[in-house]
Amino acid sequence: MTKVHTPVTDKMDFFKESTPVQLAEKYGTPLYVYNENILRERCREMKGLVDYKNFSVNYSAKANSNLELLKIVNEEGLSVDAMSPGEIHAELAAGFTADRILYISNNVSADEMRFAVDRGIMVSIDSLSQLDLYGRNFPGTKVALRFNPGVGAGHHEKVVTAGKKTKFGIAPEMMSQVKEIVKKHDLTVAGVNQHIGSLFMESDAYVKSTDSILSIASNFESLEFVDFGGGFGIPYRKSEGQKRLDLSETGRLLKQNIDRFIKAYGREIKIKIEPGRYIAAECGIILGRVHSVKENYGSRYIGTDIGFNVLKRPVMYDSHHEIEIFREKGSVDISKDCVKIVGNICETGDILANDRELPKIVEDDIIAVLDAGAYGFCMSSNYNNRLKPAEVLISPDGSDKLIRRRDTLEDLMRNFEL
Ligand SMILES: *Cc1c(COP(=O)(O)O)cnc(C)c1O
Repeated sequence: MTKVHTPVTDKMDFFKESTPVQLAEKYGTPLYVYNENILRERCREMKGLVDYKNFSVNYSAKANSNLELLKIVNEEGLSVDAMSPGEIHAELAAGFTADRILYISNNVSADEMRFAVDRGIMVSIDSLSQLDLYGRNFPGTKVALRFNPGVGAGHHEKVVTAGKKTKFGIAPEMMSQVKEIVKKHDLTVAGVNQHIGSLFMESDAYVKSTDSILSIASNFESLEFVDFGGGFGIPYRKSEGQKRLDLSETGRLLKQNIDRFIKAYGREIKIKIEPGRYIAAECGIILGRVHSVKENYGSRYIGTDIGFNVLKRPVMYDSHHEIEIFREKGSVDISKDCVKIVGNICETGDILANDRELPKIVEDDIIAVLDAGAYGFCMSSNYNNRLKPAEVLISPDGSDKLIRRRDTLEDLMRNFEL
């Protein structure tokens, strides 16, 4: 195999014994490939973030809910968040116990709340109307509340999840109404949480936001936990030398805030964070095949099988994923081309990577899309009646195994057999 452009995966020894060309032949493309070592390493980094005995990491499973990956996260001793009954279902199947799952609900029915409550799973509620619904249905129980501190952060307006322009959380100004509803239904507020947004690379805004949730927390006497939320960023521009989030500094600053709060609160309680992307993004890569190369009115298009049905982030968030190139055999032409890498979906917006300077790509090359482990497969779809890709795991011993089979044509027809 010829490595045409592989600066990042070489350094990480991502593919170990396998090569992308072999994997593409064995399993077909497009293909999600995960590296178990990297996943475990990220879990351990997050667990070690803060030097506080009651610190707990809840993996936000919406980033990637592949059952095998969830089992690994469970083995690493993390807890999990769920955003839906479906996620709860997968998490229980992966071996998480109810006490290690938090259902962070948003605009859900009483039945969905009941799905969690019946299984002994704590529900976090994010509006007064939902709190009243919860209280009417489950009086006398424990509940968590999601607050919106009024400031948000994030890499794209769609992932800023707190502040004055988002649907999430309860505004702290509504505290007296919160307390009324809690009292009316004899509820116990056992936890408060927030999530201000996704993908911060500097810790300032995150650390600052913990002041808000901690000051909100001081309103409640019976807390078991305060949850700071997720959003820990990863460097999507590795080959350009983008720096990683400084975890030791982040941890140090968080610890100061936690210590100050615990002293004032007078009792040790659990402090949680909810990383999704940080845990799952970098362990996942998509392999695709180049089926055509063409010039169209002055632009050079590289046509692949990675449409936005496979990876939605570039189209949804204008996100940047680095691209690497592998070739079964043949030499490398290092003179660079400016190319648009596109998929096979019938939409003009189906652009995976726009105007990239890369060594010459030819038909049949395998391209790798980096940092696709989070919000990758889980946001894939059957648009254009395309089959969802297979997923493969590279184990620490270097072997590869299928952890989810590719959709079949029968899968597309399954729900019509009524
Ligand atoms: C999505 C989400 C997270 C995880 O966000 P990341 O940016 O992937 O870390 C955490 N908490 C809540 C409530 C979320 O909705």
